[in-house]
Amino acid sequence: ANGTDVSYVDVAIIGAGPAGCMAADVLSRFTDRGLSVRVFDKRSAKLDNGQADGLNSRTLEIFESLGFIESVEKEGSRMSEINFWNPCPDTGRLVRTAKIPDTIPGLSRFQQTILHQGRVEAHLLQDAATHSKGAILPERSMLPESLEIDESVVDDVDAYPITLTIRHLSDEESNPSGYKGDENGTRSGLFRSSLLSAAEEEALYKKQQEQRVETVKAKYVIGCDGAHSWTRRQLGVNMIGDQTNFVWGVLDMKPLTNFPDIRMRCAIHSANAGSVMVIPQERDLVRLYIQLPIQVVPGERVDKSKVTPEFILETARRVLHPYTLDTDHIDWFTGYHIGQRLTESFGKHNRVFLAGDACHTHSPKAGQGMNTSMQDTWNLCWKLGAVITGVAKRELLQTYSDERQVVAKTLIDFDTKFSKLFSGKPASADDVDDGVDLKEFKDVFATGNLFAAGMSINYTDSIVVGKDGSKGAVRSRPELASKLAVGERFFSAQVVNHASATADQLTTRIPYTGAFRILVFPGDVAKPQLMQRLEKFAAYLDSPESVVSKYTPSNLPRWSIIDPVTIHAAERTSLELYDFPQPSIFHPHNYKRLYVDGPSHHRGDGKAYEAYGISKEEGAVVVVRPDQYIGLITGLEDTDTLDAYFAQFMLPAKDGGFPGSKVPKVLPPD
Ligand code: FAD
Repeated sequence: ANGTDVSYVDVAIIGAGPAGCMAADVLSRFTDRGLSVRVFDKRSAKLDNGQADGLNSRTLEIFESLGFIESVEKEGSRMSEINFWNPCPDTGRLVRTAKIPDTIPGLSRFQQTILHQGRVEAHLLQDAATHSKGAILPERSMLPESLEIDESVVDDVDAYPITLTIRHLSDEESNPSGYKGDENGTRSGLFRSSLLSAAEEEALYKKQQEQRVETVKAKYVIGCDGAHSWTRRQLGVNMIGDQTNFVWGVLDMKPLTNFPDIRMRCAIHSANAGSVMVIPQERDLVRLYIQLPIQVVPGERVDKSKVTPEFILETARRVLHPYTLDTDHIDWFTGYHIGQRLTESFGKHNRVFLAGDACHTHSPKAGQGMNTSMQDTWNLCWKLGAVITGVAKRELLQTYSDERQVVAKTLIDFDTKFSKLFSGKPASADDVDDGVDLKEFKDVFATGNLFAAGMSINYTDSIVVGKDGSKGAVRSRPELASKLAVGERFFSAQVVNHASATADQLTTRIPYTGAFRILVFPGDVAKPQLMQRLEKFAAYLDSPESVVSKYTPSNLPRWSIIDPVTIHAAERTSLELYDFPQPSIFHPHNYKRLYVDGPSHHRGDGKAYEAYGISKEEGAVVVVRPDQYIGLITGLEDTDTLDAYFAQFMLPAKDGGFPGSKVPKVLPPD
């Protein structure tokens, strides 16, 4: 049928790659508050092998927060060590020269894990479907054709300023033949690689038949449509940067080899045959990244017909010589041309946003693209959910590009340095100036590890990050939690549930729900003056003037917008549950509000106060944003600071807020 119809949606997501699937999942927590989401992808086929596969520690922490880390850990292949192989200075023979841990020990509870992009997308979409009760499912074979913004209404929160037209494609039109694989079951990733121009890629999805064209009016659009982003081109936003003359091939295969480190991550520089990186994958597969003996003039396109699995394997053999390399199955292959490019802007009018590869492209070897792409929409979508459901001001959305543009720039700089060192030939006595200093390479690898793990992000002062008050009214008291940093992700420590005596990681108590957390550290409340101070703080939280009351619509559960969780430092057995103020600190219908920093029966003592640098005499209040970054550190008496912090970006609930506690006071037992 040929025709048009019009529908309305709060958020239209274009592209169901890692960035789009994360966006869908983060927004799914708002669907029960009326938020609607549609996800469009031009391809009909889901990915089931190849592409990105490295999940860094920060992404794994996010998966814990979303609630599906256990299945990812079960399926994935964890990486533990990096081995460096280089030519022996005397003989030129390949030798192992160093070993370092793959993830810096102690950085996170989760270490870099390999799981291919298709499975990652599937986990996110499954989670989104569960939380939206089936309302969010990607619509495949859907090709957007036009995007218009009515600029006159972009500041009207209730308007639908964006009009999209979307063509429904047939299965045939939306499934490029390369992806179907050859007679040996080897699939090619070339049809979606950087070896194709935007025009060549677009031509793959040509409309041969007349299909339905739909008009979608959206409040917000997120362009998650990858490196050749159609959305970015509709906005007239450019990518700035260069391509190098290095071409790399990638093979996912079952290896038959006598190379001893094939189940380790390895960086191998041969004397004259180029470099290889080894990544042990799930299902006993191994990924090899292989520098190909193809040089291109920047600006010119690579001859794709040369990039065959046989050619890539043969090149890898030369690098690994004298070790042997064979295979009985190549699962997937691709090629790419290294370039580092960054978008001029992350969107327009805070109505259309760009995320993921649509904003930043670089070489895949540092394993950053999928991670950064998911972390872009992890940052954006809780803000979008809060704004659309009327909880937060539209100004909050500006912090998305302010925060993520800095991360993208750092990523591009890191990758430029990293990939140059990877692609260069090792320095020898006679060409020290041109070659790669292999010690420098190892050092960049080791120092880059903090960044590569996703742990070096520190968001600057803004309306939602109150550091020194330079951008907003609010100033933290960082000395109260000297080992935490405002703007950085809140890390976990073990605490003990006061009601059940079970040991829990604190981050498992504060999973992603879209809520802010007020972590209350009142100190050693066995001391009467500290208990009195906690009671005063609790009286504030329970009052109609508190941030919890002011910003929570009365038809939502009491702690769905701002959720206080208390971790005290008194001896657990010295106080009963009913010694604590109700309902914000202890709640008789929710025993997961009150924790102790102290010893557990089976898992030792988490020493959370020590880990966070909080004094048991002074205590602290730590505000953690929905994405687990720290927004504010202050004291228990600083309720004015809390008020000022939230007032910068929150909107008081229209119905006057929470009408007081509905929880009956329960009398303590005799
Ligand atoms: P994409 O994954 O490109 O997804 C874009 C989606 O949008 C696709 O589903 C596409 O079909 C759809 N789309 C495109 N155009 C349109 C349109 N016009 N309309 C509708 N839909 C459209 N990153 C890592 O973090 N770790 C790694 O280990 C890693 N290894 C890599 C290895 C290789 C070989 C390659 C090629 C990349 C690797 N990357 C890695 C990078 C990673 O794949 C990308 O950075 C990541 O996939 C970007 O996610 P995205 O969602 O922004 O875009």
